[in-house]
Amino acid sequence: MAIPKTEKIWHNGKLINWDDAKLHVMSHVVNYGSSVFEGVRCYKHPQSAGIFRAQEHAERLLHSAKVYRMEVPFTEDEIVQAMVDVVAHNGVYPCYIRPIILRGYGNYAWGKYLGHDSPEEGCDVCVSSWTRIAPNTLPAMAKSGANYMNSQLIKMEAMINGYVEGIALDVNGYVSEGSGENLFVVRKGTVFTAPLGNSVLPGITRATAIELLRELGVPVVEQMIPREMLYIADEAFFTGTAAEITPIRTVDKIAVGEGKTGPITRALHKEFFSIVEGRVPDRHGWFTQVPVKQAVTV
Ligand code: PMP
Repeated sequence: MAIPKTEKIWHNGKLINWDDAKLHVMSHVVNYGSSVFEGVRCYKHPQSAGIFRAQEHAERLLHSAKVYRMEVPFTEDEIVQAMVDVVAHNGVYPCYIRPIILRGYGNYAWGKYLGHDSPEEGCDVCVSSWTRIAPNTLPAMAKSGANYMNSQLIKMEAMINGYVEGIALDVNGYVSEGSGENLFVVRKGTVFTAPLGNSVLPGITRATAIELLRELGVPVVEQMIPREMLYIADEAFFTGTAAEITPIRTVDKIAVGEGKTGPITRALHKEFFSIVEGRVPDRHGWFTQVPVKQAVTV
């Protein structure tokens, strides 16, 4: 059933026309599910329209935003007033009111990812107090926007505490992955990464790393990783489309190995970049070539 149009929509303190209430496809919420909302009922009373428990809905809305560290420039009373104004102006009741707070477009940065410039630098991470989405809740193997609400909790907590990324454990306390990267640890010459059963995304860079490491003659094992392995590993690194191959130098302020990029991570990093930058032939058939005249930098 189509949602019936009203004349106006309340948007950031103003009543705007229904057709002007648009969102860009590159908005954060479209990509990462970052919205909190309420469903509020407005009843028809003999002489008026009555919004049921408006204050409690406004309070819960602001509480939801607070949990996700979303800054809201409106008070509870202003949100109640917005509901009153939108019903009064449109004159449509009984009705259902849908207050939504979302992360929009243009107010988040695509910065230097995980703050590293060189393969030598490595990044400082923590184990998150937030657990990765559990099996039979939101499926971790699907790359769905809503899964990234969990990622935001992990990432924002880490950053506020001075780390560039958080590592999430799964529901049973085993290592899962970063908020947007898969994780590998190296111990005594063997590379370990969590199997798909530990709530990880089947990363394409993860599969790439596994294949390249095996080609380099390094054994790779997919097995459950207890948390303490992070602290006693010789090396650790993230993989991901954004992270590429990012060495980890500390976890919870404990140095991983010698606290600098180790030999297996360095060898993988070198191999990975020689392939992705096209300096060696694409022997795996991983690239879809695009004929272009001139590269444009954005
Ligand atoms: N895990 C999560 C949660 C991610 O968001 C990503 C990034 N897509 C990855 C792992 C890495 O996957 P890929 O190598 O396919 O980018």
